Amino acid sequence: MKIHEYQARELLSNFGIPVPGGQMIESEAGAYAAFHAATNGMKTPLAVVKAQVFAGGRGKAGFVKLVKTTEEAAKATAFMLGNRMKSPQTPADGLEVKKILVARAADIAPRSGGGTEEFYLAVTTDRKTRRNILIASREGGVEIEQIAHDRPEAIIKEPLHPVLGLQGFQARNVAYKLGFKGKHVGQASKIMQSLAKLFIEKDCTLAEINPLIITAGTPEKPEGEVIAIDAKFSFDENGLFRHPELVSLADHSEENAAEIRAQEFGLSYVALDGTIGCLVNGAGLAMATMDIVKLHGGEPANFLDVGGSASEEAVTEAFSIILRDPAVKGVLVNIFGGIMKCDIIAQGIINAATKHRNADGTLGFKVPLVVRLEGTNVEAGRKLLKEAQGKIPTMQAATDLTDAAQRVCAAK
Ligand code: GDP
Ligand code: MN
Repeated sequence: MKIHEYQARELLSNFGIPVPGGQMIESEAGAYAAFHAATNGMKTPLAVVKAQVFAGGRGKAGFVKLVKTTEEAAKATAFMLGNRMKSPQTPADGLEVKKILVARAADIAPRSGGGTEEFYLAVTTDRKTRRNILIASREGGVEIEQIAHDRPEAIIKEPLHPVLGLQGFQARNVAYKLGFKGKHVGQASKIMQSLAKLFIEKDCTLAEINPLIITAGTPEKPEGEVIAIDAKFSFDENGLFRHPELVSLADHSEENAAEIRAQEFGLSYVALDGTIGCLVNGAGLAMATMDIVKLHGGEPANFLDVGGSASEEAVTEAFSIILRDPAVKGVLVNIFGGIMKCDIIAQGIINAATKHRNADGTLGFKVPLVVRLEGTNVEAGRKLLKEAQGKIPTMQAATDLTDAAQRVCAAK
């Protein structure tokens, strides 16, 4: 699960990491008050208007804009709400922007030798070493993937201790390696330790600050200070039950609608690009089913695991999710009845087939449906399906998994 930058900033702030203040708005009209609030007390008002979408690369795409007046803020807001944001991290046709962050702009200190003082900082899990690690670079702000690829030596990696987290000496070491000096060493180290703590406490899969910056000096703070001006988080969905405060931050309008519906019915569903819909019980069997579909020349349209004990309603819902995808040319039902009983599944199939409404308003399944049942109550299940054949003319019973895959792949 992801959250927006404006929420991420609040989370950083809760963990003591300094971020400039700001406000989320959803209309051009909101820009005026938000600009005033963000620039309150600034001698030369300067705010930054930022599109809130689940993708980076906004800066280069023109969806992060520095503005000096309320009019400029409103204009930038209108532009972002009225155009799709396209970057290498978005689908080709871009993303619709519905939320905008108007924040106090930071004055980034220049770096001796050129550029500005922008750093990269992240905590994630390193599968190779099987540890959580801090990743840091002096070259923040731009595409970190590119730097990691071209010049891996520019990336610093520091493992977190499994129990103690990121320790003070480790953070200070990294701060020195990044080139921080004086008061900034302590500030940067504290931020690193807080980010590591946040990562663990909130069950993150990624906690990223890019860029972390040093602000330009002011009369009150001549040496400037280390702060975060952009952040990105991903949370482990399996840990969400421990974090009701995070669940409420989810923005469902930015996620795949079918995947959300599936979640509500306790189904594990992942949309894929192929044409063969798969309805299976158990993740292992679902994977094997996808493999055998591919072996016979088909491409799965989805991964769908109805779980070990799905109800008739869940099975009906699973069908309607699969069949709502216009790319689906055939459906393969592959059920091994263990805890799940085959007659329940059969009843679910019959219900779904008789109740399913197609996009053109007609009832019933149009695409070929291949069913392979085995296990508990299989005889009762097969009998039910046989009796219902008249109501489901596109249904075929398969004798085994290979037979099922061959039949359904003939539909693609
Ligand atoms: P991203 O491109 O989606 O990652 O958006 P960011 O928030 O990281 O902004 C991209 C770049 O815009 C940053 O690397 C900065 O160079 C610049 N930027 C963003 N916010 C500010 C700000 O408050 N002040 C200044 N001077 N530059 C900013
Ligand atoms: Mn960024």
